[in-house]
Amino acid sequence: MQDNIIKKLDDNIIKLISAGEVIESPCSVVKELVENSIDSGATSIVVEIKNGGKDYIRVTDNGIGIDEQYVLEAFKKHTTSKITTFDDFINITTNGFRGEALASISAVAKISMTTKTSYSNYGMNVVISSDKLLEKTKVGAKDGTTVIVEDLFNDIPARKKFLKTDRAESSKISDFLIRYALANPSIKLKYINNSKQVFQTYGTGKIEDVINIIFAEDYYSGMISLEEPLSEYISVKGVIGNNSLMFSSRKMQYIFINGRIIKDKTITSHIENAYRKYIPSGNFPMFFINIIIKPDMVDVNIHPNKLEVKFADEKTVYNLIENKISSILDNLSMIPDIKISK
Ligand code: ADP
Ligand code: MG
Repeated sequence: MQDNIIKKLDDNIIKLISAGEVIESPCSVVKELVENSIDSGATSIVVEIKNGGKDYIRVTDNGIGIDEQYVLEAFKKHTTSKITTFDDFINITTNGFRGEALASISAVAKISMTTKTSYSNYGMNVVISSDKLLEKTKVGAKDGTTVIVEDLFNDIPARKKFLKTDRAESSKISDFLIRYALANPSIKLKYINNSKQVFQTYGTGKIEDVINIIFAEDYYSGMISLEEPLSEYISVKGVIGNNSLMFSSRKMQYIFINGRIIKDKTITSHIENAYRKYIPSGNFPMFFINIIIKPDMVDVNIHPNKLEVKFADEKTVYNLIENKISSILDNLSMIPDIKISK
Protein backbone atom coordinates (compact mmCIF):
# COMPACT_ATOMS: atom_id res chain seq x y z
CA MET A 1 0.00 0.00 0.00
CA GLN A 2 1.11 3.61 -0.51
CA ASP A 3 2.23 5.69 2.45
CA ASN A 4 1.20 9.30 2.88
CA ILE A 5 4.44 11.01 1.98
CA ILE A 6 4.12 12.65 -1.43
CA LYS A 7 7.40 13.39 -3.16
CA LYS A 8 8.58 14.00 -6.69
CA LEU A 9 9.61 10.95 -8.73
CA ASP A 10 13.26 10.38 -9.39
CA ASP A 11 14.36 12.01 -12.69
CA ASN A 12 15.50 8.70 -14.15
CA ILE A 13 12.11 7.16 -13.52
CA ILE A 14 10.35 10.15 -15.06
CA LYS A 15 12.52 9.76 -18.14
CA LEU A 16 11.75 6.07 -18.52
CA ILE A 17 8.02 6.60 -18.05
CA SER A 18 7.82 9.34 -20.64
CA ALA A 19 10.11 7.47 -23.06
CA GLY A 20 7.84 4.46 -22.68
CA GLU A 21 4.89 6.54 -23.82
CA VAL A 22 6.58 7.37 -27.11
CA ILE A 23 8.38 4.06 -27.64
CA GLU A 24 6.14 1.09 -26.94
CA SER A 25 7.56 -1.47 -29.32
CA PRO A 26 10.07 -1.93 -32.14
CA CYS A 27 7.40 -0.59 -34.49
CA SER A 28 7.35 2.74 -32.63
CA VAL A 29 11.09 3.03 -33.19
CA VAL A 30 10.68 2.33 -36.91
CA LYS A 31 7.82 4.82 -37.11
CA GLU A 32 9.76 7.62 -35.43
CA LEU A 33 12.91 7.03 -37.47
CA VAL A 34 11.10 6.75 -40.80
CA GLU A 35 9.11 9.89 -40.02
CA ASN A 36 12.34 11.71 -39.28
CA SER A 37 13.75 10.52 -42.59
CA ILE A 38 10.67 11.73 -44.45
CA ASP A 39 10.81 15.08 -42.66
CA SER A 40 14.47 15.39 -43.67
CA GLY A 41 13.48 15.50 -47.32
CA ALA A 42 14.89 12.06 -48.11
CA THR A 43 14.10 10.59 -51.53
CA SER A 44 15.45 7.19 -50.57
CA ILE A 45 15.00 5.30 -47.29
CA VAL A 46 16.18 1.82 -46.35
CA VAL A 47 14.75 0.04 -43.32
CA GLU A 48 16.35 -3.11 -42.04
CA ILE A 49 15.22 -5.09 -39.00
CA LYS A 50 16.29 -8.29 -37.33
CA ASN A 51 14.22 -10.54 -35.05
CA GLY A 52 11.12 -8.41 -35.12
CA GLY A 53 13.23 -5.30 -34.55
CA LYS A 54 13.92 -6.38 -30.96
CA ASP A 55 17.62 -6.86 -31.64
CA TYR A 56 18.32 -4.54 -34.52
CA ILE A 57 16.68 -1.71 -36.43
CA ARG A 58 18.46 0.36 -39.04
CA VAL A 59 17.02 3.29 -40.95
CA THR A 60 19.17 4.97 -43.58
CA ASP A 61 18.14 8.06 -45.53
CA ASN A 62 19.62 10.51 -48.01
CA GLY A 63 18.02 13.56 -46.40
CA ILE A 64 19.57 16.84 -45.22
CA GLY A 65 21.47 15.36 -42.30
CA ILE A 66 22.20 17.11 -39.02
CA ASP A 67 24.79 19.85 -38.64
CA GLU A 68 27.70 18.88 -36.37
CA GLN A 69 26.80 21.55 -33.80
CA TYR A 70 23.30 20.09 -33.35
CA VAL A 71 24.00 16.38 -33.32
CA LEU A 72 23.76 16.09 -29.54
CA GLU A 73 20.96 18.67 -29.28
CA ALA A 74 18.79 16.35 -31.38
CA PHE A 75 18.83 13.78 -28.57
CA LYS A 76 17.63 16.17 -25.86
CA LYS A 77 14.02 16.28 -24.84
CA HIS A 78 11.78 18.81 -26.60
CA THR A 79 14.43 19.87 -29.08
CA THR A 80 13.26 20.12 -32.67
CA SER A 81 14.20 21.94 -35.85
CA LYS A 82 10.66 21.65 -37.14
CA ILE A 83 8.70 24.32 -35.37
CA THR A 84 9.67 27.52 -33.63
CA THR A 85 6.56 29.63 -33.09
CA PHE A 86 2.98 29.02 -32.07
CA ASP A 87 2.01 29.79 -35.65
CA ASP A 88 4.22 26.93 -36.87
CA PHE A 89 2.52 24.68 -34.34
CA ILE A 90 -0.89 25.48 -35.80
CA ASN A 91 0.34 24.88 -39.35
CA ILE A 92 2.38 21.73 -38.91
CA THR A 93 3.40 20.05 -42.13
CA THR A 94 6.05 17.67 -40.77
CA ASN A 95 5.48 14.29 -39.11
CA GLY A 96 7.46 15.23 -36.03
CA PHE A 97 7.56 18.40 -33.95
CA ARG A 98 7.48 17.21 -30.34
CA GLY A 99 11.20 16.64 -30.20
CA GLU A 100 10.77 13.47 -28.19
CA ALA A 101 11.64 10.56 -30.42
CA LEU A 102 15.41 10.53 -30.30
CA ALA A 103 15.40 11.44 -26.60
CA SER A 104 13.02 8.58 -25.89
CA ILE A 105 14.81 5.98 -27.99
CA SER A 106 18.14 6.85 -26.44
CA ALA A 107 16.62 6.45 -22.96
CA VAL A 108 15.45 2.89 -23.63
CA ALA A 109 17.98 1.46 -26.10
CA LYS A 110 21.39 1.80 -27.63
CA ILE A 111 21.31 4.18 -30.55
CA SER A 112 24.04 4.94 -33.03
CA MET A 113 23.56 7.80 -35.47
CA THR A 114 25.80 8.67 -38.37
CA THR A 115 24.84 11.85 -40.13
CA LYS A 116 26.33 14.15 -42.74
CA THR A 117 25.12 17.36 -44.36
CA SER A 118 25.95 18.12 -47.99
CA TYR A 119 28.09 21.13 -46.95
CA SER A 120 30.32 19.22 -44.56
CA ASN A 121 33.38 17.21 -45.62
CA TYR A 122 32.80 14.60 -42.97
CA GLY A 123 30.01 12.99 -41.04
CA MET A 124 29.44 12.66 -37.31
CA ASN A 125 28.79 9.43 -35.47
CA VAL A 126 27.29 9.45 -32.00
CA VAL A 127 26.48 6.44 -29.87
CA ILE A 128 24.17 6.83 -26.88
CA SER A 129 22.98 4.02 -24.64
CA SER A 130 20.51 4.36 -21.77
CA ASP A 131 21.02 8.11 -21.94
CA LYS A 132 24.83 7.93 -21.72
CA LEU A 133 27.00 9.31 -24.50
CA LEU A 134 29.45 6.56 -25.42
CA GLU A 135 31.00 8.04 -28.54
CA LYS A 136 31.10 11.17 -30.66
CA THR A 137 33.49 10.98 -33.59
CA LYS A 138 34.04 12.38 -37.05
CA VAL A 139 33.58 9.73 -39.71
CA GLY A 140 33.50 9.37 -43.45
CA ALA A 141 29.87 9.12 -44.54
CA LYS A 142 27.47 9.73 -47.39
CA ASP A 143 25.06 12.68 -47.23
CA GLY A 144 22.11 11.76 -45.06
CA THR A 145 21.50 9.92 -41.83
CA THR A 146 21.73 6.34 -40.64
CA VAL A 147 20.33 5.36 -37.27
CA ILE A 148 20.87 1.93 -35.73
CA VAL A 149 18.90 0.93 -32.65
CA GLU A 150 19.90 -2.13 -30.62
CA ASP A 151 19.18 -3.58 -27.18
CA LEU A 152 15.67 -2.14 -27.06
CA PHE A 153 14.21 -2.17 -23.51
CA ASN A 154 17.21 -4.01 -22.06
CA ASP A 155 16.88 -1.83 -18.94
CA ILE A 156 13.13 -2.35 -18.72
CA PRO A 157 12.65 -6.12 -18.48
CA ALA A 158 8.91 -5.80 -17.87
CA ARG A 159 8.47 -3.95 -21.14
CA LYS A 160 10.71 -6.36 -22.99
CA LYS A 161 8.78 -9.33 -21.68
CA PHE A 162 5.52 -7.97 -23.00
CA LEU A 163 6.74 -7.61 -26.56
CA LYS A 164 5.01 -10.00 -28.94
CA THR A 165 6.78 -12.74 -30.89
CA ASP A 166 9.34 -11.70 -33.50
CA ARG A 167 6.83 -12.58 -36.15
CA ALA A 168 4.06 -10.46 -34.66
CA GLU A 169 6.38 -7.50 -34.12
CA SER A 170 7.75 -7.69 -37.66
CA SER A 171 4.29 -7.96 -39.12
CA LYS A 172 3.31 -4.73 -37.33
CA ILE A 173 6.39 -3.11 -38.86
CA SER A 174 5.53 -4.45 -42.33
CA ASP A 175 1.97 -3.07 -42.12
CA PHE A 176 3.35 0.24 -41.05
CA LEU A 177 5.95 0.40 -43.84
CA ILE A 178 3.35 -0.56 -46.44
CA ARG A 179 1.26 2.42 -45.39
CA TYR A 180 4.26 4.72 -45.56
CA ALA A 181 5.24 3.41 -48.98
CA LEU A 182 1.69 4.07 -50.19
CA ALA A 183 1.61 7.53 -48.64
CA ASN A 184 4.94 8.47 -50.17
CA PRO A 185 5.13 7.19 -53.74
CA SER A 186 7.89 9.68 -54.55
CA ILE A 187 10.21 8.09 -51.99
CA LYS A 188 12.19 4.96 -52.79
CA LEU A 189 11.59 2.68 -49.85
CA LYS A 190 13.36 -0.58 -49.31
CA TYR A 191 12.48 -2.94 -46.48
CA ILE A 192 14.73 -5.80 -45.37
CA ASN A 193 13.66 -8.29 -42.68
CA ASN A 194 16.21 -10.82 -41.36
CA SER A 195 18.49 -10.19 -44.36
CA LYS A 196 15.68 -10.80 -46.88
CA GLN A 197 14.26 -7.98 -48.98
CA VAL A 198 10.52 -7.76 -48.35
CA PHE A 199 9.77 -5.03 -50.89
CA GLN A 200 11.28 -2.11 -52.67
CA THR A 201 9.46 0.79 -54.25
CA TYR A 202 11.03 2.98 -56.89
CA GLY A 203 9.96 6.51 -56.07
CA THR A 204 8.15 7.03 -59.39
CA GLY A 205 5.63 9.31 -57.69
CA LYS A 206 2.77 7.09 -58.83
CA ILE A 207 0.75 5.35 -56.14
CA GLU A 208 -0.42 2.83 -58.78
CA ASP A 209 3.16 1.57 -59.04
CA VAL A 210 3.44 1.22 -55.27
CA ILE A 211 0.12 -0.65 -55.03
CA ASN A 212 1.20 -3.18 -57.65
CA ILE A 213 4.58 -3.71 -55.98
CA ILE A 214 3.18 -4.07 -52.47
CA PHE A 215 0.32 -6.35 -53.36
CA ALA A 216 2.29 -8.15 -56.07
CA GLU A 217 -0.61 -7.80 -58.49
CA ASP A 218 -1.43 -6.03 -61.71
CA TYR A 219 -4.39 -3.84 -60.90
CA TYR A 220 -3.57 -1.14 -63.45
CA SER A 221 -6.60 -1.64 -65.67
CA GLY A 222 -9.08 -1.34 -62.80
CA MET A 223 -7.54 1.73 -61.18
CA ILE A 224 -8.72 5.27 -61.78
CA SER A 225 -6.30 7.96 -60.76
CA LEU A 226 -7.66 10.98 -59.12
CA GLU A 227 -6.30 14.43 -58.53
CA GLU A 228 -9.07 16.89 -58.00
CA PRO A 229 -9.70 20.08 -56.10
CA LEU A 230 -12.88 19.83 -54.03
CA SER A 231 -12.98 23.38 -52.76
CA GLU A 232 -10.49 26.17 -52.23
CA TYR A 233 -8.96 24.51 -49.21
CA ILE A 234 -9.25 20.82 -49.92
CA SER A 235 -8.34 18.43 -52.71
CA VAL A 236 -8.03 14.68 -53.11
CA LYS A 237 -5.28 12.70 -54.76
CA GLY A 238 -4.78 8.98 -55.18
CA VAL A 239 -6.53 6.11 -56.89
CA ILE A 240 -9.88 4.43 -56.63
CA GLY A 241 -10.82 1.07 -58.07
CA ASN A 242 -13.67 0.56 -60.53
CA ASN A 243 -16.25 -2.12 -59.87
CA SER A 244 -14.15 -4.85 -61.43
CA LEU A 245 -11.97 -4.62 -58.32
CA MET A 246 -13.86 -5.91 -55.34
CA PHE A 247 -12.53 -7.38 -52.13
CA SER A 248 -14.01 -9.39 -49.33
CA SER A 249 -12.55 -7.08 -46.69
CA ARG A 250 -11.40 -3.49 -46.35
CA LYS A 251 -7.77 -4.45 -46.86
CA MET A 252 -7.47 -2.34 -50.02
CA GLN A 253 -8.74 0.85 -48.40
CA TYR A 254 -6.33 3.50 -47.22
CA ILE A 255 -7.02 7.08 -46.25
CA PHE A 256 -4.37 9.70 -45.70
CA ILE A 257 -4.63 13.31 -44.65
CA ASN A 258 -1.81 15.46 -45.95
CA GLY A 259 0.20 12.28 -46.47
CA ARG A 260 -0.44 11.02 -42.95
CA ILE A 261 -2.23 7.75 -42.43
CA ILE A 262 -5.51 7.96 -40.63
CA LYS A 263 -8.37 5.64 -39.82
CA ASP A 264 -11.74 7.27 -40.06
CA LYS A 265 -14.89 5.18 -40.20
CA THR A 266 -17.01 8.14 -41.24
CA ILE A 267 -14.90 8.94 -44.30
CA THR A 268 -14.75 5.24 -45.17
CA SER A 269 -18.50 4.89 -45.03
CA HIS A 270 -19.04 8.01 -47.13
CA ILE A 271 -16.72 6.63 -49.80
CA GLU A 272 -18.42 3.24 -49.68
CA ASN A 273 -21.77 5.02 -50.11
CA ALA A 274 -20.55 6.34 -53.43
CA TYR A 275 -19.93 2.75 -54.55
CA ARG A 276 -23.19 1.37 -53.22
CA LYS A 277 -24.99 1.10 -56.54
CA TYR A 278 -21.98 -0.44 -58.30
CA ILE A 279 -20.71 -3.04 -55.87
CA PRO A 280 -22.82 -5.81 -54.34
CA SER A 281 -23.15 -5.67 -50.58
CA GLY A 282 -20.62 -7.74 -48.67
CA ASN A 283 -17.89 -6.60 -51.07
CA PHE A 284 -15.56 -3.71 -50.57
CA PRO A 285 -14.11 -1.26 -53.09
CA MET A 286 -10.47 -0.31 -53.42
CA PHE A 287 -9.38 3.21 -52.61
CA PHE A 288 -6.14 4.88 -51.69
CA ILE A 289 -7.00 8.49 -51.10
CA ASN A 290 -4.88 11.31 -49.81
CA ILE A 291 -6.99 14.22 -48.63
CA ILE A 292 -4.93 17.36 -49.01
CA ILE A 293 -6.30 20.07 -46.78
CA LYS A 294 -5.06 23.39 -45.42
CA PRO A 295 -3.30 22.43 -42.18
CA ASP A 296 -5.32 24.89 -40.12
CA MET A 297 -8.57 23.21 -41.20
CA VAL A 298 -7.67 19.91 -39.57
CA ASP A 299 -6.46 18.89 -36.13
CA VAL A 300 -4.19 15.87 -36.31
CA ASN A 301 -3.29 16.36 -32.73
CA ILE A 302 -6.29 14.92 -30.98
CA HIS A 303 -4.68 11.54 -30.47
CA PRO A 304 -1.01 10.97 -29.68
CA ASN A 305 -0.59 8.21 -32.24
CA LYS A 306 -2.08 10.55 -34.80
CA LEU A 307 -4.46 8.07 -36.40
CA GLU A 308 -7.53 10.17 -35.77
CA VAL A 309 -8.20 13.66 -36.98
CA LYS A 310 -10.81 16.31 -36.53
CA PHE A 311 -11.90 18.58 -39.37
CA ALA A 312 -12.98 22.15 -38.73
CA ASP A 313 -15.91 21.64 -41.08
CA GLU A 314 -16.49 17.92 -41.10
CA LYS A 315 -19.91 17.59 -42.75
CA THR A 316 -18.74 19.62 -45.74
CA VAL A 317 -15.53 17.59 -46.05
CA TYR A 318 -17.39 14.26 -45.94
CA ASN A 319 -19.96 15.36 -48.51
CA LEU A 320 -17.39 16.84 -50.87
CA ILE A 321 -15.48 13.56 -50.89
CA GLU A 322 -18.54 11.36 -51.35
CA ASN A 323 -19.96 13.55 -54.13
CA LYS A 324 -16.67 13.67 -55.99
CA ILE A 325 -16.26 9.91 -55.96
CA SER A 326 -19.91 9.40 -56.91
CA SER A 327 -19.54 11.65 -59.90
CA ILE A 328 -16.33 9.94 -61.05
CA LEU A 329 -18.00 6.54 -60.80
CA ASP A 330 -21.16 7.74 -62.53
CA ASN A 331 -19.08 9.12 -65.40
CA LEU A 332 -17.37 5.79 -65.91
CA SER A 333 -20.65 4.34 -67.12
CA MET A 334 -20.11 1.20 -65.12
CA ILE A 335 -22.99 -1.22 -64.97
CA PRO A 336 -24.75 -0.66 -61.69
CA ASP A 337 -25.25 -3.72 -59.57
CA ILE A 338 -28.96 -3.24 -59.21
CA LYS A 339 -31.63 -5.62 -60.26
CA ILE A 340 -34.16 -3.84 -62.42
CA SER A 341 -37.57 -5.31 -61.88
CA LYS A 342 -40.48 -4.58 -64.22
P1 ADP B 1 11.10 15.78 -33.92
O1 ADP B 1 11.06 14.89 -35.11
O2 ADP B 1 9.79 15.84 -33.20
O3 ADP B 1 11.67 17.15 -34.22
P2 ADP B 1 13.11 13.93 -32.96
O4 ADP B 1 13.58 13.59 -31.59
O5 ADP B 1 12.52 12.85 -33.78
O6 ADP B 1 12.09 15.14 -32.82
O7 ADP B 1 14.33 14.57 -33.76
C1 ADP B 1 14.97 15.73 -33.22
C2 ADP B 1 15.61 16.54 -34.34
O8 ADP B 1 16.71 15.80 -34.90
C3 ADP B 1 14.69 16.83 -35.52
O9 ADP B 1 13.91 18.00 -35.30
C4 ADP B 1 15.69 17.00 -36.66
O10 ADP B 1 16.23 18.31 -36.68
C5 ADP B 1 16.83 16.06 -36.28
N1 ADP B 1 16.75 14.76 -37.00
C6 ADP B 1 16.32 13.57 -36.50
N2 ADP B 1 16.38 12.60 -37.43
C7 ADP B 1 16.86 13.17 -38.56
C8 ADP B 1 17.15 12.69 -39.88
N3 ADP B 1 16.97 11.40 -40.23
N4 ADP B 1 17.66 13.57 -40.77
C9 ADP B 1 17.85 14.88 -40.43
N5 ADP B 1 17.59 15.38 -39.21
C10 ADP B 1 17.11 14.56 -38.28
MG1 MG C 1 10.78 12.89 -35.04
